[in-house]
Amino acid sequence: MNEFDVIVLGMGPGGEDAAGRLVEAGLSVAAVEAGLVGGECPYWGCVPSKMMIRAAHVLGEARRVSGLAGSSAVTPDWSPVAKRVREEAADNWDDKAAADRFEKKGGHLVRGHGTVTGPREVTVGDRVLRARRGLLISTGSTPVIPDIDGLSETPYWTNRDAVSTESVPESMIVLGGGAIGLELAQVFARFGSRVTVIEAAPSLLSGEEPEAGELIAKVFRDEGIRVLTGVSASRVRFEDRFAVTAGDEVIEAETLLVVAGRKTDLTGLSVVGIEENQKFIPTDPHMRAADGVWAAGDVTGRGGFTHVANYQGRIAALDILGEEVAGADYRAVPRVTYTDPEVGAVGLTERQARDEGLAVTVGVTTAGARDWIHGTKDILIKLVASDGVLVGATAVGPAGGEVMGALAVAVHARVPVMTLRSMMYAYPTFHRGIEDALKNLLNQDRP
Ligand SMILES: Cc1cc2nc3c(=O)[nH]c(=O)nc-3n(C[C@H](O)[C@H](O)[C@H](O)COP(=O)(O)OP(=O)(O)OC[C@H]3O[C@@H](n4cnc5c(N)ncnc54)[C@H](O)[C@@H]3O)c2cc1C
Repeated sequence: MNEFDVIVLGMGPGGEDAAGRLVEAGLSVAAVEAGLVGGECPYWGCVPSKMMIRAAHVLGEARRVSGLAGSSAVTPDWSPVAKRVREEAADNWDDKAAADRFEKKGGHLVRGHGTVTGPREVTVGDRVLRARRGLLISTGSTPVIPDIDGLSETPYWTNRDAVSTESVPESMIVLGGGAIGLELAQVFARFGSRVTVIEAAPSLLSGEEPEAGELIAKVFRDEGIRVLTGVSASRVRFEDRFAVTAGDEVIEAETLLVVAGRKTDLTGLSVVGIEENQKFIPTDPHMRAADGVWAAGDVTGRGGFTHVANYQGRIAALDILGEEVAGADYRAVPRVTYTDPEVGAVGLTERQARDEGLAVTVGVTTAGARDWIHGTKDILIKLVASDGVLVGATAVGPAGGEVMGALAVAVHARVPVMTLRSMMYAYPTFHRGIEDALKNLLNQDRP
């Protein structure tokens, strides 16, 4: 059987969600997957990395006993972390459960690397699959390996090695100060690795508010993590250790973790009218990329997040089914860097809003009652408003991602700033900081 209603190319969070919906709606669906059904998120991304982070945060909390609740002696041990990742998150990197789930719904799973060889046509090995309605491309992303002298000849790590490691290196250089790099840097540092983060941009988390990156850099330095910003690695050598030339110094470490962004592969897509030399597949709000072609997930470049992939996959599936569906709206894309403190952000940064030509007002707070009670000074809430509504917001703190949730509602629903100012904020929550930031934004203390 090689004729289907729909072919889904890539079964990560974007493709898996859409393929399941299409099958449940009664279409015949061939899902082509070269790796594991589920993609990066459950096996080498979100889920295992958050298990590692949970363990590292527990260590961080235990080390805070001193000064707040007595004394503590903490002996980190990686083995329970590796075991949880291996057995609970990644199911020993076996996708049988996910594959069975799809096939039990009635889906047709085709293992192997698929190439788009014509309109509504995908070739996998010597098998040519055809789709009556169309093709959903959800091929995701892979790590960018920067073109640095010597790097490609060395046994560097990517996120996959970091997540599946059974031991903690004595020292580590993390190349890239974005969300993934920072999360993993803090994990390994808290488990005893001597970590250096090298980031070419002037601040960490360069896509977010600079204040957030500066705060995380301060926290990292306080924890003993070396942070170099505005510095590029120019040369990598490996004998029994890595030697990375960064600026005018050579930094040595047992392990080099490369987390310098993600890239897509659009090879072959010109046969369906998609330009191959672009970074991402442009789509309309209904995730249509070309005649009979939809795209979802990292490959669309609208934010490398599982929730974006799920959201787009759902819209694409409903559109393929011919159902009425509101088009994708990216004004309130939420994102969280799960460091300790967490960095939650939604919508535009101040710089992005200004670059869009918006007249912007900003309100910031860096202290609140709950933070003081909690024993931390490392907090930030920054609100960016334009035309009476929030267009972006950032919350850094022990529950930054959760605080951001309230702000995401405000950005998404265009809740007037005056309405936000008139409501009550429970005392003494972390999210009460929103009220202080609003006071500063409106420059008034009157509700
Ligand atoms: C360490 C790490 C931590 C992360 N943490 C989070 C987080 O906390 N929250 C969050 O929202 N996101 C997180 N992400 C991002 C998230 O994993 C991705 O955004 C998400 O997996 C994207 O889903 P996708 O369907 O677009 O692609 P992917 O998950 O990349 O899946 C694409 C699938 O397509 C397959 N494929 C590709 N090409 C072909 C082909 N030609 N033929 C057949 N199969 C093909 C691949 O094998 C893969 O299985 C993290 C990522 C990493 C690396």
